[in-house]
Amino acid sequence: MLSMKSIDLRHKRVMIREDFNVPLDNEGKITSDTRIQAALPTIRLALEQHAKVILLSHLGRPVEGQYEERYSLLSVAEKLSQLLGRPVRLVKNWLQGIEVEEGEVVLCENVRFNFGENADDDLLSQKMAVLCDVFVMDAFATAHRAQASTHGIAKYAAVACAGPLMMAEVEALTAVMDNPARPLLAIVGGAKISSKLALLENLSRRTDQLIVGGGIANTFLAAAGYPIGCSLYEPDSLSTAEKLLAMGKVPLPIDVVTATAFSAEALPVIKAIADVAPDEMILDIGPKTLAAYTTLIDDAKTILWNGPVGVFEFPAFVHGTAGIARAIALSQAYSVAGGGDTLAAIELFGLASGISSISTGGGAFLEYMEGKELPAITILNSRNEE
Ligand code: AMP
Repeated sequence: MLSMKSIDLRHKRVMIREDFNVPLDNEGKITSDTRIQAALPTIRLALEQHAKVILLSHLGRPVEGQYEERYSLLSVAEKLSQLLGRPVRLVKNWLQGIEVEEGEVVLCENVRFNFGENADDDLLSQKMAVLCDVFVMDAFATAHRAQASTHGIAKYAAVACAGPLMMAEVEALTAVMDNPARPLLAIVGGAKISSKLALLENLSRRTDQLIVGGGIANTFLAAAGYPIGCSLYEPDSLSTAEKLLAMGKVPLPIDVVTATAFSAEALPVIKAIADVAPDEMILDIGPKTLAAYTTLIDDAKTILWNGPVGVFEFPAFVHGTAGIARAIALSQAYSVAGGGDTLAAIELFGLASGISSISTGGGAFLEYMEGKELPAITILNSRNEE
């Protein structure tokens, strides 16, 4: 991909696709400005070169083609203006043309208010592309969607490149998938194995060790013939689990933490995996398992982490996920973590500084790790080959 850093932006109309899809409370107030903060260095880089800066983003899921106040980017424009220390003008009907001066920042209203955004409509993409001299894709979290503002516009813009945020994310994921320092260890937790089958299959081919956790591990325990009581598991995926176990890379837990109810008040009981009773459900890994997994983490040179290994939302069942997160943060390995729950866990334990790279992309991160092509990356690569 062509990098924004290698392009002369002076006096040019530079349109940057951001990810300003921020969380809002019931009154429409921004509850976390992390995504806006993350965009600042790219915007400042363009401003330093006296570019005319035009920003694009989606927010939420409005009915396409319809303006709806609660999905307006007005609060984002205000927050951004505050953080940048300069005015940020919100432009409502921007497809008709945008007036922007050198050194000015304008934010276009929610891209999803335009008909054709989600369908990657060619005409809409062309209308957007003529508004700029350089298109910069800097929203990795949207890179798995072929939409007009993430993909179509990159086909038609005079110049299309990747911004520094996007570059850094792709480089981190490439470092894990293409040429990792070995041993490469992946830790995949979460509720459902069925939602992570492609991920597990791809990772099983590339990693040296693959730790599974959460509901996913329950299906592996069942496949290995252990009793799992009334734990969450998916019988339809037993054969996949058997196949992956046969590869010899997936260590099984030694002990687990069980309860007789799925609740924050449930009494946690540590059990060897052979001793889980019919009325019990497995809600976390046990201390012996954590110690064994910590050794694997300590030995790894590259670590990829997605998904909690227990019901970390309940304090009684947080220890496995907390221990794994701490071990990764303390390890010398190059570590990459991604996914909504994983990021929530890292934030909960205050361990972000110990992780080498934290991916902002939920769906985009998973699809990349599944080995799928992300349309926004593919189009930038093909433009670079012209
Ligand atoms: P996912 O969205 O698939 O990554 O799943 C994350 C969710 O899995 C979290 O909300 C966890 O509480 C849940 N989870 C983790 N371990 C278990 C378990 N053993 N049983 C049920 N749910 C679990």
